[in-house]
Amino acid sequence: MFETLQPAPADKIIALIGLYRADPRPGKIDLGVGVYKDRDGKTPVMRALREAEKRLLQGQDTKTYLGLPGDTGFNTAMVKLAFGPAADMTRIRAAQAPGGSGALRLVAELLKRTRSDATVWLSDPTWPNHPPVMRGAGLKVRDYPYFDAASGAVRFDDMLAALGTAEAGDIVLLHGCCHNPTGANLDAAQWAKVTDLVVERGLLPFVDIAYQGFGEGLDADAAGLRLLASKVPEMVVASSCSKNFAVYRDRVGAAMILARNSAEADVAMSQMLAAARAMYSMPPDHGAAAVRMVLEDDGLRADWEAELEEMRLRMLRLRVQFADALRRQSNSDRFDFIASHRGMFSRLGLTEAQVERLRAEYGVYMVGDSRINVAGLPEDGMDDLAKAVVSVLD
Ligand code: PMP
Repeated sequence: MFETLQPAPADKIIALIGLYRADPRPGKIDLGVGVYKDRDGKTPVMRALREAEKRLLQGQDTKTYLGLPGDTGFNTAMVKLAFGPAADMTRIRAAQAPGGSGALRLVAELLKRTRSDATVWLSDPTWPNHPPVMRGAGLKVRDYPYFDAASGAVRFDDMLAALGTAEAGDIVLLHGCCHNPTGANLDAAQWAKVTDLVVERGLLPFVDIAYQGFGEGLDADAAGLRLLASKVPEMVVASSCSKNFAVYRDRVGAAMILARNSAEADVAMSQMLAAARAMYSMPPDHGAAAVRMVLEDDGLRADWEAELEEMRLRMLRLRVQFADALRRQSNSDRFDFIASHRGMFSRLGLTEAQVERLRAEYGVYMVGDSRINVAGLPEDGMDDLAKAVVSVLD
């Protein structure tokens, strides 16, 4: 039976990791995979998480099933983290999911059950896994313009114009903060305009929030989502703890529904859980239980927030340093946008050939679309890196 299969196309980022590992050059730089790294290139377990895991190990006396929604304390804490303390819990339901990817798929399955011919509008560009996850659930996808490579800014007028042609009931996927792969984000006024548009046209906002706390801060990063929630009758959210709790491999995320009222929220939740049952039944417990402990314990939470803030500020510092170095080396403001972008990524605006030259000639690794992971920038080697980038420009 398997002889009929062709190999699946290789994942470009995973292929890049292999190339990086095999590169013997000591000064090689990894700006590829989207994982936070500290100054030593490590992705440590966060302090509060480690403490919560210790407590879990000591206190947990059963591993019996938790049920389809997973850890309900975790779900409530995640809703509050995203929607804020004023979240209207009568209209919101949430289910724990295996990572942000699992949450995206779970929400997509719910949307498919609600409206089988739905179209999901995705930013151009977007996280490369968005289209397969949406299509995997049977949804159609379309693009809306988002990024202007020349200026590094959001093509906001074009985005609004495209979404203005969407039909009532279409779904608009928005990155809650820290857009991946571009690092270019909507400002408050733009979120307000998008909110007006989705209300006017009867579109369903679908917010993917995978980097809360990496941009402007925990609350500021959710401001767009919260504005939407205060104005729209219905919306859906997929959130991930992979980055902001650094629990990548534990697979921790949450799928959330805001419905028009409590009764509709219950029905939608029952359909979402039925979809989970058909895919993987119940989510893995460990990571979510540890995250719940951190969020519910004042001391652990304060420590987590402090460490997250250190990570955020480090990425901001690196952005400014890299933009400064590029300004010095290129004698131009071409790369200034790096300092105003937020989150873990920016796109430098290089061609694939230039990206390849950086890898071959300098051992600098980035994704083919010139997306860099800001956390991988070398604090002590900014000018050398900037020089390398400038040397491959036309
Ligand atoms: N959405 C976006 C935009 C992402 O960048 C990611 C992580 N790369 C995710 C969702 C989901 O990540 P995970 O499944 O690892 O939680």
